[in-house]
Amino acid sequence: MDTLKTYTFSDLEKWDFSGTALAVVGQPIEHSLSPAMHNAWIRSLSAKDPSFANWAYFRFEIPPELLSEALNYFHKQGFLGINLTVPHKVMALDCVCDCSETARRMGAINTLKWMPQGYRGYNTDGYGLEMGIQKAFGKAFEGANVLISGAGGAARAAVVQALQKGAQSIYIRNRSKERLNAMVDNLKDLKGFDRIQCLAVEDIEDSLDALPLEGIYINATSLGLKSGDVLPFDVTALPPKWVVYDMIYNPKQTDLTRLALEQNRQQATGLGMLVHQGARAFELWSEHSVDAGIMEAAAEHALDTNY
Ligand code: NDP
Repeated sequence: MDTLKTYTFSDLEKWDFSGTALAVVGQPIEHSLSPAMHNAWIRSLSAKDPSFANWAYFRFEIPPELLSEALNYFHKQGFLGINLTVPHKVMALDCVCDCSETARRMGAINTLKWMPQGYRGYNTDGYGLEMGIQKAFGKAFEGANVLISGAGGAARAAVVQALQKGAQSIYIRNRSKERLNAMVDNLKDLKGFDRIQCLAVEDIEDSLDALPLEGIYINATSLGLKSGDVLPFDVTALPPKWVVYDMIYNPKQTDLTRLALEQNRQQATGLGMLVHQGARAFELWSEHSVDAGIMEAAAEHALDTNY
């Protein structure tokens, strides 16, 4: 089997890899750096421990309507671990036999581990985001003011992680009010829920006047993935000391981070988040600690060489 290839649903039926298989599953999936970074780590690990020599990480393009059926096949074929990406993270909750408390609270799953009765779901995105922000800005969520654009799977992880780690205030905005309300409704039982505030997109200027002087803005929408996308938010309207974290990591510099840079703000794209959510996922599958630096170098190389 070829770890550079993009596989589809029909390949699952005739899958004949005899080693330990892992995969990232999404649509679109061509842009994913996960195979490059996980396979680099597997090569490094198996040089020291030959029991990992038959592990490999693949890429599958699966549409949402086939997710449930595909996961049954992945399980039957013995895939030990799956990473889920856009647009599967929320609907995957209905496809697992069990999930971690963190994934349940986030209402989204990005990592699956094979169990005899089905897949167990985890969410490592919140951890990855926290590490990415820490590495980029030296800032923790504890005591921070956080403004998040989005209400999909990635935004849910961001809100719950910020809340659990003691953010002082969390502002959320999203294009669709219904989706925003549904996300916030799911969080009502969490400790510190009163620190969450929804900002209306239509009178955002009034809301921005009331923002604290310092904070972390996070783009958790998919705006910026395609060239020509509009900005998720006009970061020039933020107080000068706010930093900007764009979860999008491909391209290396997004329109959002470029604009922040022009204003001399601290800014970063989501490569650090990608690396650390991936490292934590591999730790769950292998029950070994991971050197995230090796994954990071591989992801950067893949981004630079467009592979
Ligand atoms: P979802 O599909 O679940 O959510 C997409 C979000 O983007 C929704 O809030 C949606 O708003 C918003 N959106 C999409 N199109 C538009 C538009 N034209 N105008 C305004 N808002 C829009 O995706 P995820 O939450 O899973 O992922 C979001 C982003 O985060 C993706 O770009 C993904 O690549 C990135 N990500 C990065 C990670 C990393 O490791 N760096 C990890 C996880 C995600 P609405 O509700 O109104 O439709």
